[in-house]
Amino acid sequence: MQLYGGVELGGTNVDCIIASDPQHVLAQVRIQTTDPDDTLGAVVQFFKKNMISAAGVLSSIGIACFGPLDLDPESPFFGRITDTPKPGWTNISVLDVIRNGVGLPAIIDTDVNGAAIGEAAWGAARGLDNFIYLTIGTGIGGGGLVNGGPLHGLVHPEMGHMRLPHDLEIDPFAGICPYHGDCWEGLASGPAIAARWGMPGPDLPADHPAWELEAHYIALALHNLICTLSPSRIILGGGVPHQAQIFPLVRQKVCQSLAGYVRSEAILDDIDAYIVPPGLGDMAGRLGAVAMAMGAV
Ligand code: ZN
Repeated sequence: MQLYGGVELGGTNVDCIIASDPQHVLAQVRIQTTDPDDTLGAVVQFFKKNMISAAGVLSSIGIACFGPLDLDPESPFFGRITDTPKPGWTNISVLDVIRNGVGLPAIIDTDVNGAAIGEAAWGAARGLDNFIYLTIGTGIGGGGLVNGGPLHGLVHPEMGHMRLPHDLEIDPFAGICPYHGDCWEGLASGPAIAARWGMPGPDLPADHPAWELEAHYIALALHNLICTLSPSRIILGGGVPHQAQIFPLVRQKVCQSLAGYVRSEAILDDIDAYIVPPGLGDMAGRLGAVAMAMGAV
């Protein structure tokens, strides 16, 4: 059997798996993200140790990585993390270190594009060529597929840093983005919730006003994304949407905000199937990296 490696490289942890599809995950490991040498060294060791098993042979590796990344294939810095506040990781060529270390073909994209590819292959976006995947957690990021391919461009989308209307009388919180203050991530990421209310989101009760405000900001952002990219579906992943009360609030506020202007049955009649959680749950990123690897061969 052909096996594929998936790496979901996040700011806190790296999850590595070897699989052929979601039903056949043959090995997995979680590594703490520390300095690049130790972290990527452990990733390389995991794949080298599991290169050949009774189940098959590892063919290639997909990497879904936190950014910002250089994804321009013409660039001499393709596959590098460009400029991150995470100490030691600026200019690290994640792609080269893993590809050369393991000695197999490898492919890299953003963590959110990776998750989107996984959702298209096996999750909530099967059969769709145009959709968005958002993660709302430690940060806010967005990616997706356009005409069946991952959404790239000048660099890659930074949906979490869009500006939203911010009524300072209702919400005087200044926001925590080090670049923009009250961009979407600055107002609505997990750390923003914790900073505004003085406790982490999971400790806030389900009926706390935090969630109404959180849904308000998510809905404003989704309004903008629906009007700019016209996605066929929107998948909300990450830690914040684990709060079950978020989805009904967001769906209701998106409909209110759009005010019937976007004339699609998906929004007008079936919003529950339009704004959805990931079909692969928290495995979307690492299984997406496996799906990327399958395309890399
Ligand atoms: Zn920002």
